[in-house]
Amino acid sequence: MIYKERRKSSELLMLEALFVRNGLSEKDSQYFRGLEKGYQGELLFDSWMEKLTSDCLVINDLLLKQKNNHFQIDTILLLAGKIILFEIKNYEGDHFYEADHLYRISKEERNNPLLQLEKSESLLRQLLQSYDFEFPVHSYVVFVNSAFTMYQAPLNKPFIYPTQIRKFLQQFNQVKLTISAKEQHLAKHLTSLHISKSPISQVPEYDFDTIKKGIACSRCKSFHLYTDGRKCICKQCNQAEFVESAVLRNVKEYRLLFPEREITTNDIYEWCKIISSKQRIQRILDKHFNKVFLSRFTYYEIKERGEGC
Ligand SMILES: [Zn+2]
Repeated sequence: MIYKERRKSSELLMLEALFVRNGLSEKDSQYFRGLEKGYQGELLFDSWMEKLTSDCLVINDLLLKQKNNHFQIDTILLLAGKIILFEIKNYEGDHFYEADHLYRISKEERNNPLLQLEKSESLLRQLLQSYDFEFPVHSYVVFVNSAFTMYQAPLNKPFIYPTQIRKFLQQFNQVKLTISAKEQHLAKHLTSLHISKSPISQVPEYDFDTIKKGIACSRCKSFHLYTDGRKCICKQCNQAEFVESAVLRNVKEYRLLFPEREITTNDIYEWCKIISSKQRIQRILDKHFNKVFLSRFTYYEIKERGEGC
């Protein structure tokens, strides 16, 4: 059972929005593409984990803190009486392993995921201890990309290669023990400790005035959109989206990138750019947000249940 779903981090969402709006340097774009690739690898691993039939709890994407050390865990598999921790890598191409270091075939050294795994495992163990949870922890690095090869692969390391994943996970389906309140309690506790806003985000500086405005197509990310009645149409791929939904999608992005700014008709009008009338923007905001009047200034706040956004 999936106890905690995986979601894109706010860092990834912000970088994605800035990438589409030409707000990233080449170096930042490269960092963004790396994060995005890692995320795709995690989703691929999730698709295997969802097929597990044993009684278990799967906790995805945890950011935890132990004695001032933040550590991130891609996936935790909680079985009766034990914890399996997975570090997922979507590395691609030919690599080789030598003297505890990992290199691309071009000899460029890469971060050895084992070091990250060992650190996470140790910090998780300390954290469990501090809350009096007694569970043995086993951990593995899973290379999910079928185009990944490691030469001189060591036999004694907890590495799972693409061709082994299916069989490796099948072993957990043989576990007949069922989870108890103890595991449920641990899952609840770990999830409650999750830190949703990462303190180690690498989003570059940006500002409202210089960032590219407009509505990007939800499918191909092109800005070549026009409105036709109630729809926004993409000239590039012909994708049609209701104006209302396109505006709300862009308000959501505006809130993500500028949490300190108020949502005003003028700003959203400028942000969306292709909507020809402010009244139309105002009608959509009126419908989905609470209007707040502050002397001669009006802005919008999200409704209690976060309708629309
Ligand atoms: Zn398009």
